[in-house]
Amino acid sequence: MAHFMSLDQSVLVCDQVNPTLNEILEKNGLKVTYEPEITPEQLAEKIGNFQVVVVRSRTKLVKELIEKADKCQIIARVGVGLDNIDQNAAKEKNIRVINAVEGAMNAVAELVIGLMLSMAREIPRADREVRNGNWIKKELMGRELSGKYLGIVGLGNIGKKLARHAKSLNMNIIGYDVVPIDEEFSKEVGLMKADLDTLLSSSDYVSLHVPLLESTHHMINNEKLKLMKKTACIINTARGGVIDEDALYNSLKEGNLANAALDVFETEPATENKLITLPNFIATPHIGAQTKEAQSLAANIIAEKIIQILRGVI
Ligand code: NAD
Repeated sequence: MAHFMSLDQSVLVCDQVNPTLNEILEKNGLKVTYEPEITPEQLAEKIGNFQVVVVRSRTKLVKELIEKADKCQIIARVGVGLDNIDQNAAKEKNIRVINAVEGAMNAVAELVIGLMLSMAREIPRADREVRNGNWIKKELMGRELSGKYLGIVGLGNIGKKLARHAKSLNMNIIGYDVVPIDEEFSKEVGLMKADLDTLLSSSDYVSLHVPLLESTHHMINNEKLKLMKKTACIINTARGGVIDEDALYNSLKEGNLANAALDVFETEPATENKLITLPNFIATPHIGAQTKEAQSLAANIIAEKIIQILRGVI
């Protein structure tokens, strides 16, 4: 154990993380430098001094930064998506990249349910109007989720969790993935497997849960949006680049799609995004994993993984 208790084993935490992470690392003898607001320039100066670099999504570990990380053994992402880390550059430097896939599952799945209900019942608008003194009960004729078709694109950790929650709301689940979907899970939720085009044309709600890859960049484009019902809604809590935002804007504006709710955007913060000018659009500021429970779970998972790797256990 002595090798990782030495002060040489130091950890740079670059983004705001649950305090549990630093506590567990320090209890295990690691020296933690907590810089949640560190800039890329400051990081370029410091990164070479640390064995472990921890990030969430704010810090972008681009090639130029990783190339300077001469002592680094581990890059840890307290979360799921690894698109803010140049994994090839890390591989070239022999740096292990770890994440906490299990941490955010429930938080993101619950947010999707919240967004679907927000669209179905126009909850954000209802709140705004009441605050403005308008009791628009008659205008707010909603829809129910029960009995509707939910198409889930990408049935990994989050997609599956969402399917289970949606099943409990009596929704019908259609699923598409590029890898075979586990039969036991399919039976449990009564999953109807479909190709992407069939899923898009048959669903009342479509929710995206794929990683951002070259193959998923703009996988929902103008042509795919045209397949959807005019009454349908789309939700993206995966990554911004998965939907072509210009095409989405046009579909919503022209009434070819009823509603959309995005938690993730091609450029974040998305406070200047033209989508937020549309009345049939709901935005949240990338809060999918932003729950106390998810952050604490992810912090625990990452701390344990770091310790086990430095101990040579995994
Ligand atoms: P996962 O790896 O468990 O599942 C992803 C699934 O997508 C896999 O089953 C994979 O086979 C499938 N897939 C890959 N390419 C596909 C394609 N072209 N078509 C259909 N399916 C495809 O990942 P996860 O933990 O479920 O996370 C899903 C997404 O959610 C990721 O993009 C992640 O970055 C994002 N995420 C967002 C937040 C947030 O704060 N909004 C939080 C956590 C995760």
